Amino acid sequence: MAVEEAPMAAGIIRRLDEAVVNRIAAGEVIQRPANAIKEMIENCLDAKCTSIQVVVKEGGLKLIQVQDNGCGIRKEDLNIVCERFTTSKLQKFEDLASISTYGFRGEALASISHVAHVTVTTKTADAKCAYRATYSDGKIKAPPKPCAGNQGTQITVEDLFYNVITRRKALKNPNEEYAKILEVCGRYAIHNSGISFSVKKQGETVSDVRTLSNASTVDNIRSIFGNAVSRELIEVDCEDASLAFKMKGYITNANYSVKKCIFLLFINHRLVESAALRKAIETVYAAYLPKGTHPFLYLSLEIVPQNVDVNVHPTKHEVHFLHEDSILERVQQHIESKLLGSNSSRMYFTQTLLPGADCSSSEVVKPAANSSAAAKGASDKVYAHQMVRTDSREQKLDAFLQPANNPLSTAPGEAPAQGSARPRDGAAGPQDVEMADVGAPVEATPRAQEDTAVSAALGDSGHLSPEAALPRKRPREDADTEMEEDDSRKDMTAACTPRRRIINLTSVLTLQEEISSQAHASLQEMLRDHSFVGCVSPQWALAQYQTKLYLLNTTKLSQELFYQILIYDFANFGVLRLSEPAPVYELSMLALEDPESGWTEEDGPKEGLAEYIVEFLKKKTEMLKDYFSLEIDEEGNLVGLPLLIDNYVPPLEGLPMFVLRLATEVNWDEEKPCFESLSKELALFYSIRKQYVIDEANPTNSQTEDSDSGSTKWKWTVEHVLYKAFRTHLLPPKHFAEDGNILQLANLPDLYKVFERC
Ligand code: ADP
Ligand code: MG
Repeated sequence: MAVEEAPMAAGIIRRLDEAVVNRIAAGEVIQRPANAIKEMIENCLDAKCTSIQVVVKEGGLKLIQVQDNGCGIRKEDLNIVCERFTTSKLQKFEDLASISTYGFRGEALASISHVAHVTVTTKTADAKCAYRATYSDGKIKAPPKPCAGNQGTQITVEDLFYNVITRRKALKNPNEEYAKILEVCGRYAIHNSGISFSVKKQGETVSDVRTLSNASTVDNIRSIFGNAVSRELIEVDCEDASLAFKMKGYITNANYSVKKCIFLLFINHRLVESAALRKAIETVYAAYLPKGTHPFLYLSLEIVPQNVDVNVHPTKHEVHFLHEDSILERVQQHIESKLLGSNSSRMYFTQTLLPGADCSSSEVVKPAANSSAAAKGASDKVYAHQMVRTDSREQKLDAFLQPANNPLSTAPGEAPAQGSARPRDGAAGPQDVEMADVGAPVEATPRAQEDTAVSAALGDSGHLSPEAALPRKRPREDADTEMEEDDSRKDMTAACTPRRRIINLTSVLTLQEEISSQAHASLQEMLRDHSFVGCVSPQWALAQYQTKLYLLNTTKLSQELFYQILIYDFANFGVLRLSEPAPVYELSMLALEDPESGWTEEDGPKEGLAEYIVEFLKKKTEMLKDYFSLEIDEEGNLVGLPLLIDNYVPPLEGLPMFVLRLATEVNWDEEKPCFESLSKELALFYSIRKQYVIDEANPTNSQTEDSDSGSTKWKWTVEHVLYKAFRTHLLPPKHFAEDGNILQLANLPDLYKVFERC
């Protein structure tokens, strides 16, 4: 590097200070906290550990602590572990070719110690005690001190980039860094089933990544990427001796697709990227997934080390290998064969069609079998977790949920008379609700599960209450509708204007704008004017619009509907009272009993967590009540839920998980993300989900006296409550047209063409 002394004189070349050289080199290897953690995890794995625990503060910028129970570091070696090119894994150059451990350059710890304060505490199996030493700029600061400690190694890295101001400034968002850390750790956790992983923020009780040592790879994928991915996985496994490679892993079938490809690639057990491989696989999937959507892939390749070139970049990220083209082709073939054989009755669309798109016959969706069979096959698949309840403890919930004296079966019969059967006071706003509640006889008020039992019914009989209460600024294309809406609105607003709270919070207004800017005009038109055809299942329904038939994902549409109501009617909800107060503690315990919660022993006793959740939510009661009509009393009982649309009570079986997620999944730190994530959680809980509906319709379920009424009730609700609300209240986001949530199945003119040929 040259330093200019004077404008015209030649630069004088000086040798840079060694510490500066090292710092620059370190910055190449360690670019952000997640890189450091990756290197440290690889060291733990090299040390043959069975447990890795990561704790970070401020996205790893303030503190990273990685603890393992591996072989430890000998006291004699502590003096030099942080020097460059010191390693216990490589002695001579030829070893490079056959190395199977992760690290081999002895550069990671050295690099980290040049840009952070490093402390190593370690104990080997035969040492009497543990030793601790601190390092800076690659050097040990003082002789190792004996201390107490378990076998294994704990390395803490503090104040990363404290001496590289530019890098430190570039990494100003700890949340982003934390997300990257979770990504890296989650991927290593999946690849290393048999080793337990946990990652959390310092001071938190709940881990954000958490796997158990006895969990399978699929268990780990489930706990990190969720059920939606894990239940659609196909195992892949192929080997080619002539190309000297093996591949194992799990990939999603054609039922699953996401907007962004998730690709976990390990080559020789090292997390890497290969743009070439990604592209090759995506080409195969393109024929199976709706346009613009992508699969989830976890692949572990083993290639003879001599053939892999990992030295492309110091961070060892992007890799290339010998016979790359032949290997890619072999991988493509294998994946194609797996996709073809995975599920003969799956949904199999070549393209997702938009309503209003120009439909030539070639665009008609091509199902694997005939379309109705295909739809049926996919939605009727009953997964293990949706089967009959086996855990008797779940029934405890009934204590809070049982309608006081209204059997479920009354709803469909009563329903067509809704509105006229029950005179409504025509007023709206939370204040009314509360007054109505106070005035009502105690036993009449709390009947939560029955749809007409909602004492807090709002609005006039013909309207859903949020609409009545809220003149929404939503784009309508049809001028007539606009006029009608306006008229009815005037009537309503005349009665309730003073009571509606005007919300001027920037966060809420921004969320509203985000919804309206995402709206898909022709989908909205389709929803508004559709004719309901029928339910295929609790999750899927058919609707007709003009000459076209659509398959709609009721679950996703209802979830979006409730989210939009929560954002548009923010702080203006009625209250649904529970028939009996539901203790948050019991709800949390129920949720933690559910394997879906992902609770493990490492999280500590469930009782402690449940108590924590109660205390935590108690601190939020004022806000929850004021903005979301979510009421928790002083004893920690949930007593009220927001009334989002008339005649709809969320499936209360989802209440325990909702309460748990309320405490763990909501971002409580910042206003907008908080309102957004809280509304998302509420919307998920309110949405109609098949796992909660199938129970009701199941004849073997002892709680339902009459199975038929159980199944007609949800059908009635889907048609007359949800799809009715979709007409006027839902601004369908654009992605619904692409991700398969709204699919055009057939178009009449095209069917004629088919019949003509017969
Ligand atoms: P490399 O992994 O390439 O050898 P590192 O800088 O990552 O280089 O680590 C240097 C050395 O420190 C390793 O070779 C190993 O002997 C020791 N070491 C680092 N972390 C651990 C750990 N968690 N357990 C045991 N030994 C470790
Ligand atoms: Mg290493």
